[in-house]
Amino acid sequence: MTSIRVLGVRVDAVDPDSALARIEELVAGGGHHLVATVNPEFIMRARSDPAFQAVLDSAGLCLPDGWGVIWAARRQGRPLPGRVPGVDLIPPLAARAARLGWRLFLLGAAPGVAEAAAERLRADYPGLVITGCHAGEAGPEGDEESLRRIAAAGADIVLVAYGAPRQELWIARNLARLPAAVGIGVGGAFDFLSGRVRRAPGWMRRLGLEWLFRLAVQPWRARRMAVLPRFALEVLRTRA
Ligand code: UDP
Repeated sequence: MTSIRVLGVRVDAVDPDSALARIEELVAGGGHHLVATVNPEFIMRARSDPAFQAVLDSAGLCLPDGWGVIWAARRQGRPLPGRVPGVDLIPPLAARAARLGWRLFLLGAAPGVAEAAAERLRADYPGLVITGCHAGEAGPEGDEESLRRIAAAGADIVLVAYGAPRQELWIARNLARLPAAVGIGVGGAFDFLSGRVRRAPGWMRRLGLEWLFRLAVQPWRARRMAVLPRFALEVLRTRA
């Protein structure tokens, strides 16, 4: 697997198929691995937060999420095969899990949301085993309770929805104590799967405008998105 650096932050050159193949390798190979979906907000955060940067460097897989990452890579002369947003990876991941018998555990999001997402996934992928759901707490105060529940339920893959960087920090902090081989930070994916939050229509996604739709639906994102112009400027300033 080839990795590139965008403003110093690791991104792996994978497409959806090779990303799934890599996850299969991580599950089969044993050990414990983080899978992160790296978008421009992650990159800006990692640049000012060495702990987060180190967590991404230690990951088993850093997926290229967001058009900004694809654009930056192209500008650097190291084009990536394409985007692999975490939310788009979940359906094929669930299909593979159903086929190969991987058990999933859904951690995070508001109370009840993971359960609704699980219901949807079970309906769409007959045979899929979701061993449990728990909203829990993103911070260390919730770790013992969450770990206890995951250990009791069992899991091969834990999907963690606390938003970045909390979900990646949760996984890094608790990885060694998980029964699962893989922990994936999935952001708002349970909100979409459960139908609580509407996803941008296909045409907007194809035009790379999903961020605009999310901003319109959830205006509080404006503060987080304020780093995006700086991301673009720093990429433009970097020589290819
Ligand atoms: N969340 C949570 N606990 C927290 C903070 C966030 O459960 O302390 C959940 C929130 O409900 C949402 C997800 O984490 O389901 C973060 O989604 P967001 O849309 O911010 O992530 P993105 O997709 O933008 O990375």
